[in-house]
Order: sequence, then structure tokens, then C-alpha cells
Amino acid sequence: MAVKNSSNALKVLFVTTELAPFSKVGGLGDVAGSLPKALSQAGVDVRVVTPAWPGVLEKLEAAGVKATTVKSKVYAAYDWRIHFANVIKADVNGVTTYFLNSEDYAGDMYPAQLNFWTASPFAVFCMQALELKDAINWTPDIYHCHDWTSAFLPCALAWHRHYRQTGGKSIMTLHNVAYQGVFEPYPFLDASGLEPWSFNSSTMEFYGQVNLLKGGIVAATAVSTVSPTYASEIQTYESTRELSGILYQQRSKLRGIINGLDTKFWDPNGDKSIPAKFNARDLKGKAACKKALLQRAGLDPETDAPVIVCVSRLVEQKGFDMVFNAAGQIAETGAKLLILGSGQDWIENGIAHAADMYPNSIKLFKGYDEPLSHLLYAGGDIFLMPSVFEPCGLSQMISMRYGTVPVAREVGGLRDTVFDVDRPEGGNGFTFLTCDVDGMMWALRRAVDRYNHDKDAWKNIMLEGMREDFTWDKSAGLYKEMYEDLTQ
Ligand code: ADP
Repeated sequence: MAVKNSSNALKVLFVTTELAPFSKVGGLGDVAGSLPKALSQAGVDVRVVTPAWPGVLEKLEAAGVKATTVKSKVYAAYDWRIHFANVIKADVNGVTTYFLNSEDYAGDMYPAQLNFWTASPFAVFCMQALELKDAINWTPDIYHCHDWTSAFLPCALAWHRHYRQTGGKSIMTLHNVAYQGVFEPYPFLDASGLEPWSFNSSTMEFYGQVNLLKGGIVAATAVSTVSPTYASEIQTYESTRELSGILYQQRSKLRGIINGLDTKFWDPNGDKSIPAKFNARDLKGKAACKKALLQRAGLDPETDAPVIVCVSRLVEQKGFDMVFNAAGQIAETGAKLLILGSGQDWIENGIAHAADMYPNSIKLFKGYDEPLSHLLYAGGDIFLMPSVFEPCGLSQMISMRYGTVPVAREVGGLRDTVFDVDRPEGGNGFTFLTCDVDGMMWALRRAVDRYNHDKDAWKNIMLEGMREDFTWDKSAGLYKEMYEDLTQ
């Protein structure tokens, strides 16, 4: 058993390509920015390694985090040359974090098109993460990898000419199985140092292509995903198509652990990005946030209408085609709909068109804006999340922390965190199962009606959500259990 602050504590290296607040694209960034701290508090000796993408070191400095350069560099032998990186060590929230700084990470964080050249930084990163132990004189018991972008690491431990000799255990956590890192095998197979036999249908080959995530799933010592419901959904063809067979095959090493939140960061009672603070005992500040939000949207700040908010990547997964197809029906309810996000053109355009059609009801804030997202969470009444699939979802939990009642589809992690108030045992939101406009409007109309006609009931639903325990405490314990299972 690991003991807190003891030299016997399990050593875990978190290998992640996103780290909030320095390099966050979505939920992975949030998890990497908060779970290690909770694990460390639970007695795990956890450290983090991540690429210093453009702007990351500047953000680190701006945040006043002291950083030092480690004497030794790390390197990766890849594509017939040695790739060096400087190792910048910093204490981020009490967790020792290594930022790898090199020309390999000078481009866009995630490539729009995946091929050998754009996938290479992720393979190089994984090999440099494997080399880190010598540079810092600290050898992890477990490499904890996340999504396809660090899936090369378990592959290397299993099939790389050199690293398969070094030993080491790995965990692959799946934050979103839709992104798999698929590209042409040549010249990757020669350039990567993987044994040629690692490219077959029971390992990383996938319909003639390399599939890094598939390789990572097969090669890792254990696999986890970010909610129990998603863990079973991904074993079905409806959810994961061709990869579902592999996940079904590997199910004995798969578990689902729900994400937590950094509840200090996402706290309406201490949030510096919102104009007024509030908590479950004193909700007055929420009305001031709603006014500020409506003003920002150019809408009447005194309106009684419920404000529906969305903060999301605008991609097919999130169900926004349902939202713009329902624009007329949403406007008819009298509610205001404010959406913050960016993503696929056809979805952005669909929402922009809906906002043009109904300027007094619908507003799109296009882009990624962290402070504005806090205002939406705080100033909204209803948080709409009609996801087609949702591995865990953090936004519904954040919204509940801020007393904004979720309307969510019963899928993945949403099913594990949002419970319909009209169940006999009550709940914290409004849910629907059918993935179409009618299904979504059925739940949304119930929410709008409840808001308009039963203020006491509404307040109780808000409080139910605000009092949920979204800390990492329980889940950090489950991760620790998984680490212990692997090392016993
Ligand atoms: P996913 O990881 O699939 O994008 P999650 O709900 O797990 O979805 O996490 C999304 C995170 O990203 C949340 O913290 C949310 O507030 C944030 N986010 C998404 N889009 C934006 C945006 N446009 N501006 C600011 N924050 C955003």
C-alpha cells in the first residue's frame, strides 16, 4: 500500500499533451490540471510531463510559477535523427511538472490533418517521456497516458526495439475514443523504431492504417475511461464502430472512473471572473451575473425569461445540429439562448444563421474564451448539453456548481451525473434519450416551464446540483486502487 509522503509511495508519471490552464483544448486539459493534485493528496507520488507548446512557458511565467531548467536534456531517436528537448521543471499546484521544450512542439498543438509528419511530435514526446527518468533520477512505476496523443508510449513499451527491453507498466485512459490517431503506415513503421511485427490486425494495424489509440489499448497494462456508462458503450458497434471489437476483447482490463472537477477553480463563491459571487446559501449574486451576461449579449438585462447557455466545442459529437434545427422552437418558448464555442464550420454557420434569424433570442459568442465561459456558467439558468455521445463531460458538472440546471442527453458520463427531476426519487436536471429535435425539446420545454411556473421547485433543483460532490476525492481513490492493482 502506498503511504502518503512516504518513499514507498507509488510513482506515477502523467503523460499528457494538454494541461489546464496552460494548454487546454477540452476535458483532457481539465483532468490533467486537477487529477494529479488529488492523487498527490491521496498519497501517490505523481509527476506530470507535457510538451511546452507555443505560449505555454509564457503563460507559466505570467502565472508567477517559478521554473528551472533541468541539467540533462531528454532525447528521442526517431526518423533517423536525435530529437532533443530541454526539460523545464515547475511546481504547478503542488505537483512537480516537466515541460518539454523543443522545436518538435513549435507547431499547432493538434494538427488538422494527420499524417506521418504531423503525428511525429506525439511519438517523439512519448519517447522523451520514457527517457525522462534518467534526466530527473526518478523512475515511475506506472506511465499514465491519455488519449491517442500519448498512446505511442504503451506501444513503445510493448513493441519498440529498445523500449520493450526496458520494462515498465502503462495505463491508457480514454477521454474520447472518437479521436484515434490514424494515418498511413509508411514511413512511420521504419522511422519509429517499432518492430515490424507490431503492425498487424491484433496490434496497431487498422484497415491498412496505423491506429495509435488501438495500439495503446492493446499494449497498455490497463485501460480506463472517464465514466462507467462510456466504458460499456464503447464496447458496442453503435458507439465505437470498428474499434468496438478491440475494446470488447480488452474489456477485462477496462474500467470506468468518472471525472471530478477542480472545485476550488470552479467555485461561484470564489470565482474572480464573474461580477458577483454566490453560493448555495446565498444566491443573490447569481442574479447580478445573469444581468451582466445578458448585457454582454446585447439583450435586455431585466428580462424574466430563462437564459439557456452552452459552452462547448462546436462539433458533431455535441449535438449542435439539433440546436440550430430547433432554433425556431427554442425562440418560441421565450427563453434566451447564448452559445459560446468554436469548431466545425457547418455547425458554427448553422448557429450563426439561427442567431441572425432570431436576434432577440439567440446569440453566438464565437471562439474560445475562458473568462466568458465562467460568466455563462454563472449567469445562465439552464445549461443545454444535447451530446450525441459524451465520454464524461465536465460542463454539466461545472454548470451544476454554478446553480445552472442541466438539460442533457442520457448518454455516457451525462447519464452518470445528470438525473431527471421527474423520476420518483427526484434529480438535479432534465434528461432525454432520443437523439433528435423532438427528444431535446421535450426536456428543454419541461425545464423552461418549470422555471417559469414553479420558482420554488426550480430553486430546489438548483440547490440539488450545487450540493453534488464533484470533487476528485472518490475518483482519485479509484485511480489509486487501479495503480495498486497493477503493481501488486
Ligand atoms: P470536451 O472535453 O469533449 O470538449 P468537456 O465537457 O469534458 O468536453 O470539457 C469541456 C471543457 O472545455 C469545459 O471546461 C468547458 O468549459 C471548456 N470549453 C469548451 N469550449 C469552450 C469555449 N469556447 N470557451 C471556453 N471554454 C470552453
